Amino acid sequence: MQRYFVNQKQIETSHIVITGDDVHHIKNVMRLVPGDHIICCDGTGQEYLVRIEALDPEKVRGQIEETRRSKGEPAVSVTVSPALLKGDKLDWVLQKGTELGAVSFLPFTSQRTIVKLDGKKAVKRRERWQKIVKEAAEQSRRGRIPEVHPLSSWEGLLSQFTHYDRVLFAYEKGGQPLTQVLEPRRRDIRYLIVLGPEGGFSETEAEAAQAQGARIVGLGSRILRAETASLACLTSILFAHGEIGGEPL
Ligand code: SAH
Repeated sequence: MQRYFVNQKQIETSHIVITGDDVHHIKNVMRLVPGDHIICCDGTGQEYLVRIEALDPEKVRGQIEETRRSKGEPAVSVTVSPALLKGDKLDWVLQKGTELGAVSFLPFTSQRTIVKLDGKKAVKRRERWQKIVKEAAEQSRRGRIPEVHPLSSWEGLLSQFTHYDRVLFAYEKGGQPLTQVLEPRRRDIRYLIVLGPEGGFSETEAEAAQAQGARIVGLGSRILRAETASLACLTSILFAHGEIGGEPL
């Protein structure tokens, strides 16, 4: 069944009114008609089974038949912090990371970041990322849309570390094995995973991250491309926490 994210304002006691781009999708792409069902997610992990009643050019109105918790949200919270990458590689990390279950993304620039992105361009790019993440969240049956934070400076990123229970800094020159720094028994622990750009991290950056409380971790004996490293690290954490490979939805 097709899923759409709606905001709280669109939810009335027994009805939901859908506006915006989703109206076009419901009417012209999915060609749904009154009587058909859709699922609406409010972005907080709550979802509604909705029976379409009326389709206008600008809005779709439906009756809520059932309210339930979305099963698509992992208990463990992993924020993926990838360095800005060349081309559309970061788009890919955001899309796949959303499918896998990342709770949010915090892109940053560091010493060896190649791409420059400032001002208007950064705003535009973030809008594109938010769209990618929204579509991936709908497709993968997430209960919430992961947040894409604004592009951060390296110093800005370091100052965010205190908001997480555990910060893992993936260092290609090696560190503690990932398996030793995870806490699968703390179900709702908040991780931040930090991954470098194509050129990797400098030693100074690794030291600064450690001084700020991060654990320096290795992901194995092969050097992964930056985009692969993000997803490998995220997947490994989710697997260790029993969020991947479990019961089907
Ligand atoms: N150009 C560098 C590799 C950079 S890989 C070199 O040749 O050495 C890009 C990022 O992916 C790294 O900064 C790191 O965060 C992550 N990464 C890749 N392989 C890794 C590994 N085996 N262990 C830990 N982190 C890794």
